Amino acid sequence: MEKTAKSVWDSCLKFVRDNVEEQVYNTWFRPILPVKLSEAELTIQVPSKFFYEWLEEHYVKLLKSAILRDLGKDAKLRYSIVMANNYDNQKPATINVPSSNRTRPIQQQSFNMPAKQMGEINGIVNPFALPGLRRVKVDSQLNPNYSFDNFVVGESNRLAKSAGNAVSKNPGGTAFNPLFMYGGVGNGKTHLAHAIGVEIKELYPEKTVLFVSAEKFTQQFTEAAYKNNRNDFTNFYQMIDVLIIDDVQFFSSKEKTQNAFFQIFNHLHQKGKQLILTSDKAPVDMQGFENRLLSRFKWGLSAEISVPDYETRLEIIKSKNDLDGTVMPDDVVEFLARNITTNIRELEGALISLLAHASFSREGLNLDLAKKVIKKFVKNSTKEISIDYIQKVVCNYFSMDIDILQSKSRKRNVVQARQLAMFFAKRFTKASLATIGTQIGKRDHATVLHACKTVGNLSETDRQFKIYVEELDKKLSSMH
Ligand code: ADP
Ligand code: MG
Repeated sequence: MEKTAKSVWDSCLKFVRDNVEEQVYNTWFRPILPVKLSEAELTIQVPSKFFYEWLEEHYVKLLKSAILRDLGKDAKLRYSIVMANNYDNQKPATINVPSSNRTRPIQQQSFNMPAKQMGEINGIVNPFALPGLRRVKVDSQLNPNYSFDNFVVGESNRLAKSAGNAVSKNPGGTAFNPLFMYGGVGNGKTHLAHAIGVEIKELYPEKTVLFVSAEKFTQQFTEAAYKNNRNDFTNFYQMIDVLIIDDVQFFSSKEKTQNAFFQIFNHLHQKGKQLILTSDKAPVDMQGFENRLLSRFKWGLSAEISVPDYETRLEIIKSKNDLDGTVMPDDVVEFLARNITTNIRELEGALISLLAHASFSREGLNLDLAKKVIKKFVKNSTKEISIDYIQKVVCNYFSMDIDILQSKSRKRNVVQARQLAMFFAKRFTKASLATIGTQIGKRDHATVLHACKTVGNLSETDRQFKIYVEELDKKLSSMH
């Protein structure tokens, strides 16, 4: 039987379906239409540029395996992007984007190659070099899609953004060295870190800029130590002009990597080179770090990037729509901004999901559809947390029996656990103080109120207690 775009895609879908969860399948794969097959090149139609980027970022390997299975090793994938503005009945605009799956994962195994084959600069081994290639320059590993141009500024990121601007105009020459940016997941740390690097490259093309995740840095270091190339590794990093390390919390409890980084940090800092670091926590709250390194983190400026407020969320949605060529009714934009409050990554996810549904539904993009899609989205990611569940998580965390938590015990650790359970019940459920009290050891509403206040006070004054609150918060929010 002759292969058609449809038959190839159908068989790909079968494969995909076996490999992802149903919700993922429905959101990201169902809306795709096969449009063309010429020789080994399959063209699929996706509803927006976001959609395409999302697929490339999250499912490129899966897609690749799927089409390779069917079309053999010469298989190529091409995307055709339809702008999702079909609600005003315009003919969809289509652009073709060949699958770019060679851009990212290239450098992954490079450090496994024997040193001779790796790129060398002045005899220094470049851990980012492609195997078999000699590179004169260090590839900055920057993502040009993360720029200042598409970074929306609001209260939540204003300080970090201004500091970033100052640093890019004058890398190494401001008081912001290191520039340490911290905040919760999905708030824009990585984006901003890239943007600073991209801007520096533009203003100072001769400067060597390098973006590296703490995880990759650690891998490279471990590999170097194993191969006895530790000096090459250090020398390589010491010749960078602008070093950007993402998610430094990853260095936690990794003593040897911390030492290597400490040495590199000092060298660069002394030579007036710029360091830019991101982390999920402020330096004071970081665990598993040597003090001398933590104190270095505090030398420059620590800027928090927090969860965006409503205004910023509105701006972000509008800006993404503009970039994507999407026309979205105002009430839908407002609905999204009001309902997706966790972080920017989720906001983007919801937006993409909505566009996907809209492009291939007859209804078009309106508030009803938004409500339907977002309800599913929110339901899937925010399970209603019960008071019971919160007590279980807290007990689990402190390895305490739930009977003990609910008992009359006045022991300090029991009281604290009980107060934490009450505090989180207030925060994560809609239950009244009285209900919370009844369910957590038959207390009255005044006790619960007191517990909430105590937790608030203690987390300001007691470092260890603050950690309890944050870690429990994380555990409960991940269910959320
Ligand atoms: P983090 O590193 O803090 O977890 P990211 O930088 O990966 O967060 O951001 C998550 C997503 O949100 C990215 O796609 C990013 O482009 C987008 N984003 C974050 N902040 C902004 C912003 N201020 N304006 C526009 N997009 C943003
Ligand atoms: Mg990040």
